Amino acid sequence: MQLVKSVRAMQRLAKVWKRKGARVGFVPTMGYLHTGHLSLVSCARKLVGRKGKVVISIYVNPTQFGPKEDFSRYPRDLTRDLDLCRAAGVDVVFAPSDSEIYPASFSTFVVEERLSQGMEGVSRPGHFRGVTTVVAKLFNIVQPDSAIFGAKDYQQAAVIKRMVRDLNFPVKIVIAPTLRETDGLAMSSRNKYLKGELRQKALILRRSIQAIQEKVSRVGARLAAVQAKRQIKKLILKEGGARLDYVEFFNPVTLKPESQVKRGVHMALAAYIGKTRLIDNARL
Ligand code: AMP
Repeated sequence: MQLVKSVRAMQRLAKVWKRKGARVGFVPTMGYLHTGHLSLVSCARKLVGRKGKVVISIYVNPTQFGPKEDFSRYPRDLTRDLDLCRAAGVDVVFAPSDSEIYPASFSTFVVEERLSQGMEGVSRPGHFRGVTTVVAKLFNIVQPDSAIFGAKDYQQAAVIKRMVRDLNFPVKIVIAPTLRETDGLAMSSRNKYLKGELRQKALILRRSIQAIQEKVSRVGARLAAVQAKRQIKKLILKEGGARLDYVEFFNPVTLKPESQVKRGVHMALAAYIGKTRLIDNARL
């Protein structure tokens, strides 16, 4: 396994691989890796085969964090991440510094203007502008044939897919399922913040989804989105130490809000558990 820190070295490698006809699978991450990330690595390996190359990027991208968000305290442990990548059969870890990615006088951004408007886009202004910009740059640097994203960040995956289509990136986007802890909590680097009883309280996200899933599980069953939202807000408030940021019911393709909640509709929510903001989603 190789650790690459400079853009030039990464692009050089990509060129060599292209010349040899090796397929490249890419997993962009912010590090502090968990089994969810590693499942994307396995997915990449399956896509490119034994002779292909699997690249993972580890970069906590400052432009996707708001000024009051957790950029500076986001968990980082490159040594541990490198061990996990080696064991998972990664070929190259691309871990650039901020000045590699954002040189002085950097002034070009990529903006998706529709799918990024709701949900995370409302709660985290500028977030997707940072995401699309860094992912576009990473695609130009790594030049992958395919890139794997987690369904855990459902809106992000949709925004990236749209960017790739709209800007003609020659990259196949694959969306892999959300991996969960045995009790149902979606794996996340931010789960590290959940100390003591907060870890237990975090299950309220999954339980909120399950509560609605139960209501609409019968064929033909439906309920008004406003009513469902009220119910979730109450459920989360009752937990104590938890606060709903948003909950949305929407079309899984267009991300447009649905006024009626029924099977096949997608549900996503964000909630603060103490000071930690967590997200989850599922198709109902
Ligand atoms: P992050 O490091 O949180 O930016 O995530 C990097 C990639 O891993 C994104 O495509 C995420 O959607 C994906 N990911 C994060 N958590 C999970 C999970 N629990 N299961 C599957 N993929 C995940």
